[in-house]
Amino acid sequence: MRKKMIAGNWKMNKVVSDVPEFFRAFSSACGLAKDRSISAKVDILFAVPSVLLDACRTTASGMGIHVAAQNIHQETSGAFTGEVSLPMLSDIGVNATLIGHSERRQFFGETNQSVALKTASAQKAGFLAIVCFGETLEQRNAGQTEAVIKDQLDPVFDAISGLNNIVLAYEPVWAIGTGVSATSAQAQSAHEYIRNLTRSRFGGSADSLRILYGGSANPKNIAELFTKADIDGALIGGASLKPDEISSMVVKALEAK
Ligand code: PEP
Repeated sequence: MRKKMIAGNWKMNKVVSDVPEFFRAFSSACGLAKDRSISAKVDILFAVPSVLLDACRTTASGMGIHVAAQNIHQETSGAFTGEVSLPMLSDIGVNATLIGHSERRQFFGETNQSVALKTASAQKAGFLAIVCFGETLEQRNAGQTEAVIKDQLDPVFDAISGLNNIVLAYEPVWAIGTGVSATSAQAQSAHEYIRNLTRSRFGGSADSLRILYGGSANPKNIAELFTKADIDGALIGGASLKPDEISSMVVKALEAK
């Protein structure tokens, strides 16, 4: 059975002084403050802005919470003003990252090729890479969802050396930050397609791959999403900013069969 993952994405929100109180409230609401074994049953991860990484890691890692970057550069060093490298992150004890979030693709020119390069570099460096992808509303309405997913994932599959340390996050663009989640049936249909695609490239190891759903997941819809066979967790934006909401999603992950 695949261990569920609840991954928060703070995007460009919060400041260092918010961090201690956030994790105090979160760990007390989900039970982690009293029962550390929770983190062995569900992977809990927060992807936070670079300047918050150190504070989050210091506060959260003793609780078994993983802390991730929201983006990385594929090169280890050099003339790339404004970028953050994998060795810089390792140096402060961060070994996980999002890659290819739709906001990176939409606003910062991330392409399927750059996502593939970054994923390969992250994997080589031993990082957990959460690779994000998904179709726009126009593409869904044109019946192109599966073709778009294949176009997004094929370069990643060509670049990686297997599925170790890879988590996929299916995030339909029309569901991100809109309050309109995919239905559990829509999400399952995409996840099943993604697993089959992965199996056709990597064989049986696709059965251990975690595929997260992202897009307006919240405490009300997450239990239904978790009834589906190929939904192994969630990548959560808005609700991850509120300790009571994300903690209740951790509880729902623990309750899921
Ligand atoms: C996200 O940022 O990856 C996301 C899914 O956001 P939201 O949960 O707010 O839709």
